[in-house]
Amino acid sequence: MNYEIDSINKIKNNNGDIYWYTSLENQSELLVTSWCNGVSGIGKFLIAAMSTFDCPEAKPLYVGIKSTIKNNNLNLTNNQCHGTTSIGEFYLESLHVLNEPIAAEEIKKIINLLLDNSHKSEGVTQWLSEDNESFTFDYMGGSTGIYSFILRALYMFENNSLSLSEKTKELAYE
Ligand SMILES: [Zn+2]
Repeated sequence: MNYEIDSINKIKNNNGDIYWYTSLENQSELLVTSWCNGVSGIGKFLIAAMSTFDCPEAKPLYVGIKSTIKNNNLNLTNNQCHGTTSIGEFYLESLHVLNEPIAAEEIKKIINLLLDNSHKSEGVTQWLSEDNESFTFDYMGGSTGIYSFILRALYMFENNSLSLSEKTKELAYE
């Protein structure tokens, strides 16, 4: 684990932010914030490290990742793999493990965005997959992963005496 923490420390820039690019050779290429290939996945690792061990090096890196995600409002797809849901998963961990108040606000924003991007197909709320044409049900690329995020958010909000919109609850019980 120390090797991973050291490696993440090396990609930290001057203001402490952490950037993960599609290619290390060409850092002008797209910043990746999803958890599949990007910084929110590294953030989930850091949260796990901080919650398990006394790990003071992890905290500033986690703060850097939070700032990178917050300051780079990328136009992402919807899903778990490369979409806004993956950022939502990072914030769910932040809320669950670190009890971060900012996480609850960000989760609400992400759910609203997902609701805006949803479609009704055959009477069911669904999201277009990355091809922007089809609906799929798989976890990483499709609707079940998005539903899973929304259901976990509802559960966590209720256990922290927070609330989500009526529209979110309707969707969960649909
Ligand atoms: Zn992926």
